[in-house]
Amino acid sequence: MNGLRVFKFGGSSLATPEKVCAVAKEISKLYQSGQKLIVVTSAMGKTTDQLRELAYKVSPQPNRREFDMLLTTGERISMALMAMALHDLKCPSISFTGSQAGIMTDGAFTNARIKELKPMRIEEALRENKVVVLAGFQGVDPITKEITTLGRGGSDTTAVAMAAHFGADRCEILKDVDGVFATDPRIIPSARLHKKLSIHALVEFCFWGAKVLNYRSAELARDHHVPLFVGRSDDFSLGTEITYSDDGYKDGEFLGVNSHVEVLEIGVACTDSQEGANAITNILTENNLPELQVLSFSYEAGTYRVLLTADADLLGDFREHVRYSSKVHVLREHISTVTASYAKRPCQIQVVPADQREATIRKFF
Ligand code: ADP
Ligand code: ASP
Ligand code: MG
Repeated sequence: MNGLRVFKFGGSSLATPEKVCAVAKEISKLYQSGQKLIVVTSAMGKTTDQLRELAYKVSPQPNRREFDMLLTTGERISMALMAMALHDLKCPSISFTGSQAGIMTDGAFTNARIKELKPMRIEEALRENKVVVLAGFQGVDPITKEITTLGRGGSDTTAVAMAAHFGADRCEILKDVDGVFATDPRIIPSARLHKKLSIHALVEFCFWGAKVLNYRSAELARDHHVPLFVGRSDDFSLGTEITYSDDGYKDGEFLGVNSHVEVLEIGVACTDSQEGANAITNILTENNLPELQVLSFSYEAGTYRVLLTADADLLGDFREHVRYSSKVHVLREHISTVTASYAKRPCQIQVVPADQREATIRKFF
């Protein structure tokens, strides 16, 4: 759609009523200049973490359906507040939850995948020249009609999926950081900011744990050539332009280091890789758990070895269930990956004890 821009505002950018109003002001200026806009909101500040803690105060292993029912309320608060603030600025707007917006997912509570978009109400609102405010991180399973969430950081995926569906001119993911850095600036404050980065490098960064963007959103952007910008919410000019051609880096030039904090190495006694992978899938399906991220795998002499990661709750649940399996074992835990990326070269992966993760990252700077 010509003239459509999709914005996503992270939780820290919407942490207080004042911040919501400040973002609304910027959005209304863009609206006055004639842009069509979809604004995806994350939950305010640390709301999602607080809701999660609340769930664990009530139940040591919260029911996954109810967990999603709870967590989706965070984004529902921020979308409604944003639409209210826009109304007061005389900017016609309407907010939608994921299910109202036709975001159809599979049924994997806490880490659902978007299967299809049927955003009829968004189309109608855009035709009526309204700013669409959309709750990030959520959808609905059209078969069971259950509400699902898209995994931590899933608002990024909501925004990219919408931009891909509507062929937006630009998808701007706005955060509390200046863009994509060579590593997490909380660990290395002097890390370089990438003004430009290729989509391949971004996907690699996110696969190996750069929390700056949800991995699935980066993959989706790559697959649909979404014009993507990752930048700062209080200064729309600061950020990283994601390129689909050359990003200007020389072959082999160091791009950055990313890391998964919590990784499990699992071993399966089996006759081939397929049997090993199936044994892990069986544990997940039998216990109603969503898929985990497979970082690497190998098969040698009757043992299938795989490095897995996921958010800490899911990984913890999976680890518990592995205890009851006779075939599947934890080979290593409390380990992290540290992955260095280079332009147009394969990345280099290290697996280190979790308590040496930051020290390993620091060696690169
Ligand atoms: P939001 O929820 O506001 O969208 P997140 O907190 O999910 O934002 O992601 C932004 C955070 O990602 C930053 O505060 C930063 O600490 C972290 N981060 C990790 N790796 C990187 C990186 N390579 N570049 C930039 N930020 C990174
Ligand atoms: N609020 C959710 C989270 O904190 C989703 C998101 O912010 O993208 O993970
Ligand atoms: Mg986030």
